[in-house]
Amino acid sequence: MTIDFRQAEKELISAGVRLDHLGLAPATSGNYSIRLNDKEIAVTVSGNHKGKLKSGDFLRVDMDGKALEDKKPSAETLLHCQIYKCYEKAHAILHTHSVAGTVLTRFFADKDFITLKGYEMLKIYPGNTMNTHDISVHIPVFDNTQDMVELASRVDIVLEERPDLSVYLIRGHGLYAWGETIEQAEYITEATEMMLRCELETLKLKGAMR
Ligand SMILES: [Zn+2]
Repeated sequence: MTIDFRQAEKELISAGVRLDHLGLAPATSGNYSIRLNDKEIAVTVSGNHKGKLKSGDFLRVDMDGKALEDKKPSAETLLHCQIYKCYEKAHAILHTHSVAGTVLTRFFADKDFITLKGYEMLKIYPGNTMNTHDISVHIPVFDNTQDMVELASRVDIVLEERPDLSVYLIRGHGLYAWGETIEQAEYITEATEMMLRCELETLKLKGAMR
């Protein structure tokens, strides 16, 4: 599949508006991308507010994250490239920073996954081929670092083992979600963030009932 760069910009701009309305793009956090063809990705430049993106706030990079024009890509571009390489079907990637994802991954500081169980919205994941709510999905959680090469090497091991995945979390940081279309990536992001919020609210209720 080949996508025009301008079309990719439009799709990513509207994704940013939507995610910002949901409180998933505070300050200049997050980064978004679309696979243009088998050699190039359109990705957000570093530093802009993702709810106020405009044409020109994106650049082309190659599959190793190297900028193909004179702009600075998001610091985490390497993680996008890695997902596109591991998942042939991935067409769009959205990275969000949320309260629930941040609090939960810090609260469960010794856990390398967060389990979502029994939620109707689990049906959103393409890896849930049974199309049922009656499953447990273990979302990998990776410890945060500013060393993207080191982080990518840890992520790589898990992605290789989990062809079913369409999301992962970085501790105290945020969520990566991908889909076969930008729309699917948005739905997976929204559904995952919603279920993480449910987990957080449940923990609070349990604490209040003690
Ligand atoms: Zn981030």
